[in-house]
Amino acid sequence: MVTIPPQPWPTGLAEDVEPLVRRVLAPNPSPYTFTGTQTYVVGMADGPDCAVIDPGPNDPDHLEAIMAAVAGRTIVAIMCTHTHRDHSPAAAPLAAQTGAPIVGCAPLVLAVDGPRSDEAFDPTYAPDRVLADGEAMRGTGWTLTAVATPGHTSNHLCFALEESGALFTGDHVMGWSTSVVIPPDGDMGDYMASLDKLMAREDVRYHSAHGAAIEKPRQLVRGMIGHRRQREGQILRLLAEAPRAVSDFIPAMYKGLDPRLVGAAEMSVTAHLIDLEKRGLAKRTGAHGDETWQTI
Ligand SMILES: [Zn+2]
Repeated sequence: MVTIPPQPWPTGLAEDVEPLVRRVLAPNPSPYTFTGTQTYVVGMADGPDCAVIDPGPNDPDHLEAIMAAVAGRTIVAIMCTHTHRDHSPAAAPLAAQTGAPIVGCAPLVLAVDGPRSDEAFDPTYAPDRVLADGEAMRGTGWTLTAVATPGHTSNHLCFALEESGALFTGDHVMGWSTSVVIPPDGDMGDYMASLDKLMAREDVRYHSAHGAAIEKPRQLVRGMIGHRRQREGQILRLLAEAPRAVSDFIPAMYKGLDPRLVGAAEMSVTAHLIDLEKRGLAKRTGAHGDETWQTI
C-alpha cells in the first residue's frame, strides 16, 4: 500500500528541476494524487515566454504560485495532459487572467450513458486548440511535442521536451503508483499500447504529474507492463476456478488494500475484464451492474 510522505512538502514553491523546467506542487494531496498535482512551467528562466503544463485544481493559492513561477514571462500555451479534476480546472482561470490559449488534449466527451463511473472528469475544460499526436508547441529555446497516450483517459497526451529529452507523462506513468484505468473512458488495451509506445521511445527522464522525477524511465515502464500482465494472469486463473463478480476478485488480488481504494481496484479489474472480453478470452452474463464474468 502506498503511504503519502509526511508533510511538509514544498507546496506553492517553485522548484527548478532542470534548466528549462520549474515545478509547482498544488495543495491537493490524497490517495489518488499522492502529495498533490505538480504543475510544470517550461521555458528559459531568463527567456520571454513559457508553457504551463497541467495547471491543476482551481485553487487561488496554487494559481498565485504558478504566476510566481512564470515570473513575468508570457505564457504561450496552457497545456493539459488530460481532463481529470486534479489537472485541468485551473486552465480556464489562468487563461482568463493571462490571455494565454489553452492547447493540448481534446475535451472529453463520455460516449457511454448511465451511471457515470468517471467521477474525476472535469466538464469545464474547453481548449482553444487540440494537439494531434506529433504536433508541437514552440517558444524561445523550447519545443513541446504531443505524444498521444490514451488509456488512463481516452484523451491523455504526454509532452516531450525536445531540447532535454524529458517527457511530461501526466498520469500515464508515475513513479509512486501505477495509473488507474477506469471504464468506460479508461481503456486497458489502449493503456498497454501506450506503455509499449513509451518503450519504443528514447526519453531520458519523465516528469509525472504526481511524485518525483523518473530517471530510468524505460525500466519503470517495463515493470508496469509486467505488473499488468501479472494482474491479467491472476484474473484468468480466478476465472478458470469459477465464474465470479468483479468484487470477488479483490480479496485474492489486492492483499492489505487501503479501503478507500477498493472502488479503484474494482474499476481496474473491470478494465482488465473488458479488455479480455474484447480479445475473446472472457464473457459476462447477468444484468448491467450485476454481472458475472467467466472464461470462454
Ligand atoms: Zn488522471
